[in-house]
Amino acid sequence: MPHARQESIDRQAPAAGDRAAREKEEFMEKYMLSIDQGTTSSRAMIFREDGSCVASAQEAFEQHYPKPGWVEHDPEVLWSTVCNCIRQALAKANIQKGQIAGIGITNQRETTILWEKSTGRPVYNAIVWQCRRTAALVEKLKDSDPEFIETVRDKTGLVPDAYFSATKIQWILEEVPGLKARAGQGEILFGTVDTWILYRLTGGRSHATDYSNASRTMLFNIKDLKWDEDLCRYFHIPMCMLPQALPGASEFGYVATDIPGLEAIGGVGIYGILGDQPAALFGQTCFDRGDIKNTYGTGCFTLMNVGSDPIISRKGLVTSAAWSWMGETTYALEGSVFNGGSTIQWLRDELKLIDHASDCDVLAETVPDSAGVILVPAFSGLGAPYWDMYARGAILGLTRGTTKAHIARAALEGIAYQVYDLVTLMQEEADCPITALKVDGGASVSRFMMQFQSDILNCNVDRAKERETTSQGVAYLAGLFCGYWPSIDALRELRHCDTLFTPSMSEEKREKLLKNWKKAVSRAGAWEEKE
Ligand code: ADP
Repeated sequence: MPHARQESIDRQAPAAGDRAAREKEEFMEKYMLSIDQGTTSSRAMIFREDGSCVASAQEAFEQHYPKPGWVEHDPEVLWSTVCNCIRQALAKANIQKGQIAGIGITNQRETTILWEKSTGRPVYNAIVWQCRRTAALVEKLKDSDPEFIETVRDKTGLVPDAYFSATKIQWILEEVPGLKARAGQGEILFGTVDTWILYRLTGGRSHATDYSNASRTMLFNIKDLKWDEDLCRYFHIPMCMLPQALPGASEFGYVATDIPGLEAIGGVGIYGILGDQPAALFGQTCFDRGDIKNTYGTGCFTLMNVGSDPIISRKGLVTSAAWSWMGETTYALEGSVFNGGSTIQWLRDELKLIDHASDCDVLAETVPDSAGVILVPAFSGLGAPYWDMYARGAILGLTRGTTKAHIARAALEGIAYQVYDLVTLMQEEADCPITALKVDGGASVSRFMMQFQSDILNCNVDRAKERETTSQGVAYLAGLFCGYWPSIDALRELRHCDTLFTPSMSEEKREKLLKNWKKAVSRAGAWEEKE
């Protein structure tokens, strides 16, 4: 049974079933199901009590680019791929009714969907977080209202940007004829992807989200954990469209019993929702203040648990409410590196220096150091702490003796330097020194980069054995809520270290390298001319 209950939002109670069936169910092994609706694919994973994955399924879907810089998904396709993945995962593990104890949902954040309350039909494609169609609108707001940036930062913990849902909602309301009036009359609902999947899974009974997803809309006050009336007015968004915002571990609703192929989970509770990055923070068991993780994917995402007081960054990091447990909300400070693993893809696909991403390590280790070469992967500008959209990529320190091995090494080091910058800034802003960086993601398989990361940060780098910390994280949170796992401490036991990288570089060398990196970044800065 769930530990706590919130006020009801017309959720369907689990189907009762007859006594014999219930008794049979009690003796069957139970599992947690997690749904991960991501930017390029949907996924379902089934976990057992020891935290291991019993079965999983994944399905990619089409990206729509209607204009340069615009990115959309078809909401019906997001839903159908989620259903397909759940069906396949259930079939692979031969799951019978009564064996899924609870469900967690994690998702691509900020992506915006509007649909009709009466039919559940989307009124427009999902506008994806990457979509830049409202960038000019945000710039205009920043220019025309000197207090806009401060207001947004203080209330929402965000740096105003087109990524976040607010201007995407505003855009759809303005572009679809007649929609504004209908939204004002309560006929149109808004949701991020978690809300959309929850709505469909519960047969339209639950219209809710969690604090972490709400935190990325630019409409949510992260201090009082409520939708902000002033911001909604500012963006002309009727508050009746917004989902109920609940703690990440909550009774979000129950799966409808009439979804074809999902009968085995009909009536099962959805007990956890977290956006993808906070889910990974939870999956990495970063439960204590100062715990920090970095995911090395195409880009890198660094998140630090900063405890129960939100820290409003002054240097371009963002703060979100992450999860709440036992009545206490945990906040996360977040920063991202725009080009992480994509730098390795660039060496492979554009420079053709390597055939496979894994060759980069092999090549890098054929030389003892980068021979003074520094690669600044500022292909699309630099984020925190520099925030220079006009910076461009640069390779500095070339000599006649530079080889492709030096460049491969400098590329891996360049990713690690950027993560160093973020982690250092986070330590400063949170006033919290770290003892270890927990890592995951596709590019974290690079042993060379992880060792260099440890050396340059002068702290341990702890690579998780578990590959899917995002799915795992939300399964853990949902499982905690429904009593599948007994405590936070029980969850700590489920994480296993794959490799612990410990620092071995001399302080003198470290300082010299960092000085060169700073110099190289300054040369790459403000390269592109402003129009
Ligand atoms: P995403 O979730 O962003 O798609 P993944 O976590 O799947 O990313 O990681 C993919 C990235 O990892 C790619 O950019 C790729 O270049 C990088 N990568 C994969 N294998 C290696 C490797 N052996 N060494 C370095 N980078 C790697």
